[in-house]
Amino acid sequence: MPSIRLLKIADNVYYAKGSPASLIAVEGEKAYVVDPGMPKDRGKLLRKAVLKLGVSEIVALLTHLHGDHLLAVEYLQPNEIFIPPGEAFAVKPNVREGVALCYPFHVKCEKLTLFEPAVLFSYKFLESNAGPFHVVDLPGHSPCQKGFLLGNVLYVGDAVFGDKLIARVGVPYFFDHRQGLESMNKLLEYAEKGFKLVLSHGPVVQDKQAVSLVEQNISTIQRIRQLVLEELEKRERCVSEIALRILKRLGAACDATSVVLAERTVRSILAEAFEEGIAEPSVSGDKLVWQFKRHT
Ligand SMILES: [Zn+2]
Repeated sequence: MPSIRLLKIADNVYYAKGSPASLIAVEGEKAYVVDPGMPKDRGKLLRKAVLKLGVSEIVALLTHLHGDHLLAVEYLQPNEIFIPPGEAFAVKPNVREGVALCYPFHVKCEKLTLFEPAVLFSYKFLESNAGPFHVVDLPGHSPCQKGFLLGNVLYVGDAVFGDKLIARVGVPYFFDHRQGLESMNKLLEYAEKGFKLVLSHGPVVQDKQAVSLVEQNISTIQRIRQLVLEELEKRERCVSEIALRILKRLGAACDATSVVLAERTVRSILAEAFEEGIAEPSVSGDKLVWQFKRHT
């Protein structure tokens, strides 16, 4: 029977490896489990491991509502579930992951959305504190993502990614990359002050390692922005063409799902370029294309 080993990383704070990894804090009779993760069966293993800590209640806390972070909730059988206000639409029956990832459509399987759609029937909204945790705003990857701070440990969700994930996907998913950069700058301050950052998809980092990882995430976004503008400078292009060409240039996977996810980040960058007056959309033949706006 497989099991999950909880690694103690601070007083009453434990780390469960995974992608996403989970963070557990014990306060009195309750264990607070941040991002139970996936697959569904991970919930059973987490429940077993957490109950061994001598608690009688489990509370699930979610940074955001992408399926990979919450599929294990069902078998974790928490007494309470707290989610970021503003993201509840994503887990309503019939809305599902497609909309959670802000696609223009929703689908009933994980083929295009990466993860099985998850539905939560009963939840409460996070406020500024959740048990022993202080709740930190980290929007950008999703509209209202939250981080969870306890002592010098900060669980950052998908606000930054480990280098392996960045290398694999090429273009990290950002609903709004500008908000994402603001969140990263906030994390840079925490990193510089010596806080331990716990990533969902990546390592636990501190000090120089934490600073350089956040800086790497910032420069990844800046580099992708540069690549989007370079593609537009060559000729007018539609969003999927820009996304695909950049994925190829970065040596990342180029299947339909990768392009759909990368398109979201590209759209966010195009919106910024449009606001800055350096890119504009137009209809060309049967496509909506974007072009670089030259100032004469
Ligand atoms: Zn996510």
